[in-house]
Amino acid sequence: MQKLLTIIVPCFNEQEVLPLFLEAVEPVRNELETKHGLSTELLFIDDGSVDGTLELLREFHEKDESNRYISFSKNFGKEAAILAGLKNVKGDYAVLMDADLQHPPKLLTQMYSELTAGPGSGGSYDSVAMYRDDRKREGFFRRHFSSMFFKIMNKMSKLNIVNGATDFRMMNRPMINAIVSMPETNRFSKGIFNWVGFNTKWLPFETGERPAGKSKWSSGKLISYSFDAILSFSEVPLKLCSWLGIIFCLVSFIVGLVHFVKTLIFGDPVAGFPTLYLMMLLLGGIILLFLGIMGQYLARIYLEIKQRPVYIIKESNEETNLIK
Ligand code: UDP
Ligand code: MG
Repeated sequence: MQKLLTIIVPCFNEQEVLPLFLEAVEPVRNELETKHGLSTELLFIDDGSVDGTLELLREFHEKDESNRYISFSKNFGKEAAILAGLKNVKGDYAVLMDADLQHPPKLLTQMYSELTAGPGSGGSYDSVAMYRDDRKREGFFRRHFSSMFFKIMNKMSKLNIVNGATDFRMMNRPMINAIVSMPETNRFSKGIFNWVGFNTKWLPFETGERPAGKSKWSSGKLISYSFDAILSFSEVPLKLCSWLGIIFCLVSFIVGLVHFVKTLIFGDPVAGFPTLYLMMLLLGGIILLFLGIMGQYLARIYLEIKQRPVYIIKESNEETNLIK
């Protein structure tokens, strides 16, 4: 039987770029069909856009049944869109790609070949993931921040995420099933992809320029996304708190001993108010910082335990589970 590839495209206010995307992906779909005998479908996830994105998606579907869409009741974020996409894959394979053509559609044929060719003789990869190889084009801040993030992330968790990893990734059915079975609501997909295991082939690619529309990621959003990612895959910040606590106890014990001996030998009167209040300030600060870190985890536990849906679907071209 002919295999089916679902191309998942999260869209948030992408009315300017969507027609260009459709145009660019069309010849690639034809090539996959004719050269590889692989049929394809598009699954657009409208992540609560407030521009004409949804109207466009309705039009796309009217023109061609294989252009499916799901529209959220509000903006739930790209991670939620990825989950909705993967949950509604009809195909044997799925690929995640941005609507803004920064993930060049023409790479799909190469990704599919790599995926099915697999390592050595026999067997195949479960997933082909793309990492960015064009860091020079990004600004100084973003480039350094991003490679630092990947380093810290890997150090602090048991994950091993390739520097420059993107969400541009093709995978097979077993891996898709594993990902959608992960129950957490706070989802860091790059971590989840890595956590579920499977055989992944990494390929470099150059991100294209965004031909229209704007990036949705400000520097502030990126920083908070990074914190979220670390907190959802690492307990190291909590361990750090305990270790620093132990070190401070030891230091205070030693300092106390020194003072005790000094008083015994020299009968020194107690002096050093500045030291006293500086120590108080320092310890108070550290305690508050650690309470804050614990609070961050607590807040996440609170969110997970409420079991709120990751997304709510308001409209789709087909029957689907409205809430997840
Ligand atoms: N996106 C989304 N929901 C959001 C933000 C972004 O679905 O809340 C989509 C967006 O429409 C695009 C992709 O995620 O298809 C990547 O977004 P963007 O180009 O803004 O990110 P960047 O390329 O700057 O990292
Ligand atoms: Mg982009």
